[in-house]
Amino acid sequence: MTRSIAIVGAGVLGCTAALLAARRGWRVTLLDRAPRAWSGASASGEGKVHLGLVYALGDAATQRHILGGALSFARVLETAVGRPLPWSRLAGEPFRMVVMPDSLLPVEALAERYAALDALLRAEHPGAAYLGAPLPRLHEPVVVADPATGLPALDVAERAVHPARLRAIVLEAIEREPTIRVLTGRRVLAIDDDVDGVAVRHTAEESDDRDDAGASPAGASTTLRADAALLCAWESQAALHADPQAAPLSLRFKTALTIPAAAIDTDRCRTMTLVVGPYGDVVRRDDSVYASWYPAGRLVHEQGLAPSAEARAQVGAIDAAHPTVDEQLAALTAIGALPPLRPGGRERVSIAGGWIVAEGDRDIDRADSGLHDRHGDVLAVRGRVLSPRNWKFSTAPLAAERAVAALGALLDGEAAA
Ligand SMILES: Cc1cc2nc3c(=O)[nH]c(=O)nc-3n(C[C@H](O)[C@H](O)[C@H](O)COP(=O)(O)OP(=O)(O)OC[C@H]3O[C@@H](n4cnc5c(N)ncnc54)[C@H](O)[C@@H]3O)c2cc1C
Repeated sequence: MTRSIAIVGAGVLGCTAALLAARRGWRVTLLDRAPRAWSGASASGEGKVHLGLVYALGDAATQRHILGGALSFARVLETAVGRPLPWSRLAGEPFRMVVMPDSLLPVEALAERYAALDALLRAEHPGAAYLGAPLPRLHEPVVVADPATGLPALDVAERAVHPARLRAIVLEAIEREPTIRVLTGRRVLAIDDDVDGVAVRHTAEESDDRDDAGASPAGASTTLRADAALLCAWESQAALHADPQAAPLSLRFKTALTIPAAAIDTDRCRTMTLVVGPYGDVVRRDDSVYASWYPAGRLVHEQGLAPSAEARAQVGAIDAAHPTVDEQLAALTAIGALPPLRPGGRERVSIAGGWIVAEGDRDIDRADSGLHDRHGDVLAVRGRVLSPRNWKFSTAPLAAERAVAALGALLDGEAAA
């Protein structure tokens, strides 16, 4: 019997799940409220495939989970698209972890934590591969002086994948797949679960600042029926899952800048993460530089199951002329992480921001922050509605694989009963 699955949200998680479901012979409807697939957080992040280093302060379960996601990233995506991928073209240069003067850990303590993570890699993943290449170690155990910032630093193996390039590959694979139907511009309002499957109520998208799990405009919604549903709707996911017991999430809006090569001397930039605490990243791509700086760019931070109307309004008001752009540029230039812009460069800088969703109620500027914890349930289940609790780009392919396997087990179990 052919299964039918509705997937809500066409980011890295939903698109990977759609392809994996299609490989099982299922019919998939992939819905997204945006006019273009993969235009949410998956398009606006730096695409770092975390090896666990930024989680140096996290617990062992979190570190294992993050490392496992990174080491599965290439394998799962290649299974999903059905061919080997050109990782050397997709992934940029390795990161340098530049230790800030007011870092939560001094460089020596950070080096010790990285050494422990390297021991974990050797013990649990001998012969590991990462983004298509062998991964003998996570970091170089020598502290270097970063010439641009004058700060102590550790060179690590982490890399960022160019999100737009990965997007193009995945969407092309989806287009080739006759059993996947993509409905963009459709906002899902609710998913009901009954004895015959699920009913997904959706409506034409009108504006970006409405509640997802709110009332639909009278008479405007359509209902799609499927055997089961997978929720991959990022900042709207917990609200759509409609679990009254669900714990609130930490929701932050992070602004990041994309500086095209015409606006900055990219040769004077280096891919780096400023650690450990609420700082930011600079990612050099071959056509641009991506730069984030949390102290200025953390526009909203609140707890809830979805961003509040006030938070959405605040975020909706930012554009490339927002003062955050100047604050981020000034801070990163003062540190030495960015060279000054070329004359006229400011006008070319654009904002690439998005919501960060995480568990825990304390932010990353505290050593006891739970924000990076990733060892809760990997899947929330409400009848035939499954909702992966995955809050990273790095771990999304693995989460998609697990969610599709869980859906298969659930439906097979029901068929056998
Ligand atoms: C600035 C920034 C930097 C980041 N950097 C990194 C990083 O370097 N490494 C890392 O591992 N992670 C990073 N992250 C996190 C990472 O981007 C996300 O974990 C990941 O992209 C989430 O993928 P997703 O498919 O779940 O969500 P998304 O890509 O956001 O996709 C969800 C989709 O659901 C759709 N949707 C939502 N509600 C509805 C609805 N009601 N009806 C229909 N469609 C709906 C949206 O339109 C969207 O397309 C970053 C995030 C941000 C914002």
